[in-house]
Amino acid sequence: MTASRTLPVVEPTVVDHAAAAARFNANPERVTWHDEALWFVREKRDHAMTDVAEWETLRELASSIKEHTLSRLDEYLLMFESAATANGVVVHWARNAEEHNRIVHRILESHGVRKLVKSKSMLTEECGLNPFLEARGIDVVDTDLGERIVQMRREHPSHIVMPAIHLKKEEIAETFAAQLGTEPGVSDPIALVAAARGHLRERFLAAEAALTGVNFAIAETGGIVVCTNEGNADLGIALAPIHIASMGIEKVIPGTAELAVFLRLLARSGTGQRLTVYTSHIHRPREGQELHIVLVDNGRTTQLGRAGFWRSLKCIRCGACMNTCPVYRRSGGHSYGSTVPGPIGSVLTPGIDLEKYASLPFASTLCGSCSAVCPVKIDLDAQLYRWRQIVADAGHVTAKKRHTVRIGATVLAQPRVFAFLGRATRLALRMLPQSIVAAVAAPWSRDRDVPVPAPQSFRAWYKANRISRRPGGEQ
Ligand code: SF4
Repeated sequence: MTASRTLPVVEPTVVDHAAAAARFNANPERVTWHDEALWFVREKRDHAMTDVAEWETLRELASSIKEHTLSRLDEYLLMFESAATANGVVVHWARNAEEHNRIVHRILESHGVRKLVKSKSMLTEECGLNPFLEARGIDVVDTDLGERIVQMRREHPSHIVMPAIHLKKEEIAETFAAQLGTEPGVSDPIALVAAARGHLRERFLAAEAALTGVNFAIAETGGIVVCTNEGNADLGIALAPIHIASMGIEKVIPGTAELAVFLRLLARSGTGQRLTVYTSHIHRPREGQELHIVLVDNGRTTQLGRAGFWRSLKCIRCGACMNTCPVYRRSGGHSYGSTVPGPIGSVLTPGIDLEKYASLPFASTLCGSCSAVCPVKIDLDAQLYRWRQIVADAGHVTAKKRHTVRIGATVLAQPRVFAFLGRATRLALRMLPQSIVAAVAAPWSRDRDVPVPAPQSFRAWYKANRISRRPGGEQ
């Protein structure tokens, strides 16, 4: 017994990241292993990076290639279209998600397709393709294992590279027992993978069309590159008579020489691998097959026109900024309420709907770790900070946050008031019982001891030690 149909997911009208993160945090055990699992991947990335002596040069190069391509995006897209068409590919253009979905549906409908297999494509998530096709009687099966798991659970992916990272193997075992009829309580990963493989093989063999995403589109050759670790994209393409590839317009790069730069960065940054297990180059349909490529804008040209944010389109969707982000690791991908979560999601989504995603630029400590690991050197923390200012100017912050920041600004602008409050706080921290101090500092103090204040403030220490020791300084 299987259930491949996903239910239409009810989207919140306004995403409250803090409230959603609090729900995730209600299970401290989950938070801990989620945090540790992602940090483990971040460490693998660090090891993989040290293998490549010219890592920083590669990042610089990748960033420059992307900036160059984005600055001539129209030219490269037309070059790609012309080369792909000459290869026998049918190229389609979609202004938005609705157009993308209609184009895909039209292709399937014209061939009487009722069974579609999909390999991982965050773009089709972004466009809401699955519910669109299912509402029109088409059976859609996601064939990436993580994607299939979340599809069976009627959830969204929580990470762009590891869609089911929020789930424990016991939870997956429960899902498989209910959906695939596996032995209840058997959570051995090898047994679970074997069950999924058997189930998916049937779907591949029955599929009448295959849809894939695109990691890179090469303007000079008209070819596309699809990177997976499971070979599911290749299996779908090899068996089905129709292949549809959906790509965001920012995926185009000039040539094969540039491709090498990105392939060296992508898997190392995302999962710590040297290369994805399958890196498939597709140039033309095989004999008897149709190949359609749908180029999708869906807000990308608007983002390209935003002076402070166009560089976010350099993203190659490696997921490294999520793996390193202390907020993402402890709040889970679903708390972002968007297809792309984490730091890059918080930069992209306010541009789509400022009011709905107003809380996301604040889901960051601005520590800069995301920018430090990004293989294409996107200044994520600076862009998050810029969005905060835009969100505040548009009046989308809570009254509490507005008043708190106003009070903070007043105190920081008056050194005497700041010094007085510092003295008062240190005194209070020494005099008051710990229980009261902890209650005032809650929830911060739930897992931490409130530190005993230093006997002297930094300003007093500086005055006593540095100024008086400077040659000619105040005595
Ligand atoms: S913003 Fe950078 S680190 Fe984050 S997913 Fe995109 S390429 Fe990777």
